[in-house]
Amino acid sequence: MGTRSTLTVAGSEKARLTPATAETKRMMQALEAELSIYRSDSAVSRLNSVAGVRPLEVPEHTRRLLELSKAYGDLTSGAFDITVGPVVDLWRPVKGRTPSLPSDEALKEALARVGFRQIQITGGSAFLPAKGMRVDLGGIGKGYAVDFAWERSRSQGTSNFMFDLGGNIRVSGEAQPGVAWAIAIRDPFNKASTLAKIEMPDEWALATSGQYERFVEIEGRRYGHIIDPRTGYPAVGLAGVTVLAPNATMADALSTGLFVLGPKAGIPILKKTRAEAVFIPDKQPTELWVTPGIEAKLSLLQDVKVKVIPGW
Ligand code: AMP
Ligand code: MG
Repeated sequence: MGTRSTLTVAGSEKARLTPATAETKRMMQALEAELSIYRSDSAVSRLNSVAGVRPLEVPEHTRRLLELSKAYGDLTSGAFDITVGPVVDLWRPVKGRTPSLPSDEALKEALARVGFRQIQITGGSAFLPAKGMRVDLGGIGKGYAVDFAWERSRSQGTSNFMFDLGGNIRVSGEAQPGVAWAIAIRDPFNKASTLAKIEMPDEWALATSGQYERFVEIEGRRYGHIIDPRTGYPAVGLAGVTVLAPNATMADALSTGLFVLGPKAGIPILKKTRAEAVFIPDKQPTELWVTPGIEAKLSLLQDVKVKVIPGW
């Protein structure tokens, strides 16, 4: 999945660390082999290769992820869309070429192939009905993998641990007797420092989406890797959004979707779910715009202004 994973086990359960890590690692590799779009033989790549041609029998995790992705697509009114790949490609920097803005025609052509609602799932098979349509689980797959590893670790009998896959984190139990796990939010404007930390409710997950780590610079402006499917342009307005949710799949999908929607349009979605969020607007001085439910769990590590999302 192009990132690093870490399993942290609380002191008293250290003895379980080695076998648990080896087992979890094998499961994660198997999951990656099924979902990755960077492997031509993965289930997702094979499904993409027969888009517009025929349905394909897909393995269990792929089918479940397609269903979950469609549900998060609906929940976010299409801001989260796993078929946005053709547009993502237009914004991807190409080695040896000066990055330039995609043309209107190219955007229009790519957007015509975008639309998660078209994905058909029947029994154990899936079908992408249009030629050139494609699924990219980059915005939700890591969260799903974290939930999977989390469940495995629990069923192996580990109860106090934290699993982190590239910033998609889920905790279990406590860090120390009587001390909850806490996770810091990085300063999107200064990667070396942190802004605040969040005390994690037991079994909960956290994910952050931001433009500051992966972007392309065109004519002096930065364009990020999260695309607004309504316009075909990279989402703007936020430096980052962190979502706290009962599971990591939800945290991952919602952080990507809410990055597109922004805080105001995110309010009804956050009210519908149990998720909490911290938005960091892309402006100075740095401010944190938060859901009221997260305030008590947040401790500041820098002198920044915190306010409840305007309009909440
Ligand atoms: P994340 O880091 O979880 O926010 O996911 C970002 C990745 O999701 C990108 O690198 C793309 O592969 C993919 N992506 C970009 N825009 C969207 C979108 N609007 N909906 C779903 N996935 C997206
Ligand atoms: Mg995501």
